[in-house]
Amino acid sequence: MNDLQWTTQELLEEAGKTILFTAHRPDVVMERGEGMYLWDTEGKSYLDFVGGWAVTCLGHSPVVLQEALAAQAAQLVNASPSFLNRPMVELASLLVQVSCFERVFFTSTGAEANESAIKLARKYGKIRRDGAHEIITMTNAFHGRTLAAMAATGKPQWETLFTPRMPGFKHVPYNDYEACAAAVDENTCAIMLELIQGEGGVVEAELEYVRKLRSLCDDKGILLIVDEIQTGLGRTGKLFAYEHYGIEPDIMTLAKGIGGGFPLSAMLTKEAYNIFEPGDQGGTYTGQPLGMAAGLAVVQTIVSGELSAQAQRLGDYLMGELRLIAGRYGLTKLRGKGLLVAFDLPGEYGPALVDHCRSIGLLVNAPKPATIRLMPALIVEEADIDRMVELLCSALDELKTETIQDDGRAAIAR
Ligand SMILES: *Cc1c(COP(=O)(O)O)cnc(C)c1O
Repeated sequence: MNDLQWTTQELLEEAGKTILFTAHRPDVVMERGEGMYLWDTEGKSYLDFVGGWAVTCLGHSPVVLQEALAAQAAQLVNASPSFLNRPMVELASLLVQVSCFERVFFTSTGAEANESAIKLARKYGKIRRDGAHEIITMTNAFHGRTLAAMAATGKPQWETLFTPRMPGFKHVPYNDYEACAAAVDENTCAIMLELIQGEGGVVEAELEYVRKLRSLCDDKGILLIVDEIQTGLGRTGKLFAYEHYGIEPDIMTLAKGIGGGFPLSAMLTKEAYNIFEPGDQGGTYTGQPLGMAAGLAVVQTIVSGELSAQAQRLGDYLMGELRLIAGRYGLTKLRGKGLLVAFDLPGEYGPALVDHCRSIGLLVNAPKPATIRLMPALIVEEADIDRMVELLCSALDELKTETIQDDGRAAIAR
């Protein structure tokens, strides 16, 4: 089958017949990646400010990842989940060294890491809090697409999707301490949140709010779970976003950046919550050697290359450049930390702008109709940011002309 050498048109036609429909995708087939760029099957290049969805933190196909995967593949692809392996212990040890946690459980996707966190919180409730099982989560949150992670997620559209919904989650407004405090009762075992709501449009948790949540959890004897699947591993200018708040969570989940593109996730916790018994939690691919080798190479590179500090510096530069063009295009609410950045457009044409940008070779993301999010690799350089801003401006200019021609309403011109 690998010898078919289908043309792009044939690939698209075949995809239309064989790939289960779940999303509208553009008529593009990606073929190759290097650094900040992707190339499609037509040889067209794209400057990538989506970063594989905040995943390819070292850029596309970085040499360290290629080498780590090749070496591990030659050594051991898979033993079985019932055995330890070398990179598994080395990665756990490194994560413990660079974080406030003492224990690590590995899975492959973010949703699975959150499932592990939910299970651990319920286990804690069962044995230490008289069977308390409820987890308080936030509106506008995103925790993944498994059924429990969907129930934890605070998207109104998901409330009626795939019902019956997994019980045991209570949603309160984000950044509203009083609402959260009022929701805690004898059934509560944990509070779970993102420190920056990524899919929710890059909404930051306030400093005092997070500090008060930490005290609330201490007072009530419940667990504080932070989902750092998007914010972790340097993205926000610190290795972990909780460092911005001067607090230590009880449980943290990581995914996306940790594998640099290889499917890998982790749940970290304190020694005090090392409470699973045999059979409670597991998985065929927990500690899978290729994932462990990938994670080890990625985390080592981020830590030794001080990429968190670099993300902070380049994030500041990016923000400064965006400020320079904000007035001209009516861009508002420039926000974010490090290299997780967003701004609002004066109208709901985010998806149209994403399409325009892609057509001229720039990838950006619209998590909401009027919001554009940028989450480039941590290795992004000033020249890449300059180029991105140039392309973004020409897409905005093009869209402005079209909008005026289309219906006479100059949505962007305001
Ligand atoms: C992406 C994301 C998830 C889900 O991760 P998957 O790997 O898609 O399962 C969960 N939480 C947050 C904050 C995310 O950004």
